[in-house]
Amino acid sequence: MHAEQQDQRRRVPRTDAVLADPQVAAAAAERGRDAVRDVVRAVQQRVRAGDLPPEEVVPAVLAALPPAGTTLRRVLNATGAVLHTNLGRAQLSPAAVDAVVTAAGATDVEMDLVSGRRARRGRGTLAALRAAVPAAGDVHVVNNGAAALALVATALAAGREIVVSRGELVEIGDGFRLPDLLESTGARLREVGTTNRTTLADYRAALSERTGFVLKVHPSNFVVTGFTAGVEAGELAGECAGLGVPVVVDIGSGLLAPDPALPAEPDAATALAAGADLVTASGDKLLGGPQAGLLLGEAGLVERLRRHPLARALRVDKLTLAALEATLRAAPNPTRAAVHADPSVLHERCLAVAEALRGGGIDVAVQPSAAVVGGGGAPGVELASWVLSLHPDLAVPLRTGDPAVAGRVEGGRLLLDLRTVPTAADDLLVDLVVAAVRGVSR
Ligand SMILES: *Cc1c(COP(=O)(O)O)cnc(C)c1O
Repeated sequence: MHAEQQDQRRRVPRTDAVLADPQVAAAAAERGRDAVRDVVRAVQQRVRAGDLPPEEVVPAVLAALPPAGTTLRRVLNATGAVLHTNLGRAQLSPAAVDAVVTAAGATDVEMDLVSGRRARRGRGTLAALRAAVPAAGDVHVVNNGAAALALVATALAAGREIVVSRGELVEIGDGFRLPDLLESTGARLREVGTTNRTTLADYRAALSERTGFVLKVHPSNFVVTGFTAGVEAGELAGECAGLGVPVVVDIGSGLLAPDPALPAEPDAATALAAGADLVTASGDKLLGGPQAGLLLGEAGLVERLRRHPLARALRVDKLTLAALEATLRAAPNPTRAAVHADPSVLHERCLAVAEALRGGGIDVAVQPSAAVVGGGGAPGVELASWVLSLHPDLAVPLRTGDPAVAGRVEGGRLLLDLRTVPTAADDLLVDLVVAAVRGVSR
């Protein structure tokens, strides 16, 4: 061993000395002494190996500490997909974020504070959901849309048959297929009709004493056009009511009432009014809330679902209940704002952001574009929008900035769609693009 290297080894600061440094001690108080000590040891090793001068141990330890909270990074969604699955679908409203913070500590989620006794879990959330959909006899909330379906299939059709159209056996994404999910509960699928056409007679022929329920699934991420036929929930309800067979409608997106901006999107109120016995939906799609599965419908059926043992395994967290209630009680939320944004306002925002960027010497164009609902919803619907068109080399530095900016590269340009960016974030977007350009030109 060289003398120089031996000298280096002797100069490695002792663990206790490093941990006593005020900044390192503060980090240890926040993240735990053991976690920080592991980092100190790793850095000492680098000094021993001669890769780091001994006097740089403290800064190296601070730099090597993992982030104190989440490793998730904030992202400005400029993709033009309102509900971007890979960016976590719906963004919570400020009211929902406040509600999450309130619920984070001890909270009366399951206690009546007047009597001090146990109370129904999430009763405020359930009341808000009932108020939002008066046609529902009762409501229940589970972990997500898939959980809602799994609970219905288990409670109403395990060992029995679910009658469903072949045109509605959809894959919801990432390889997950609804037919597999339904069969995993022990229910059997009784497929009727064909990919493009299913008639009332098809359903009628399949109904028997083995039928648990009839399922209608909204094919939310694709459209079938041309020679097609389907049966509305209302017609099915008329057929099934006399037989005591429930009709369950999976509307997918979570619209509680019709939205004129999305005329083809089914909603809970309309499905129930048409005669559906149960409706299932997601909380973090067009409703604009947290990930959740909504179950709305006939009170007796909802009670069966609530009491089923599986319900406990699909129970939602208090943070979800808080965010969902705030979403239901407050009208505005980022999803609704993005779906309903006026294109002329988006144009003006684009022009203002472009002007600020040009002031910083950045080459940018403004052009019309089309945004989408995304998240497997409203296929084929284009929302007129405006985008900033930038040099494509900016895509990676923007995505790896903090906050990150996610756009889309199309036709050799990086496009940033302002329909999916909250208006309040426009100035931040300018700063982030300026910082990314500086990083690239350095
Ligand atoms: C999205 C969707 C689901 C799954 O809901 P998650 O909340 O993602 O579990 C089920 N059915 C339909 C029709 C959907 O669109």
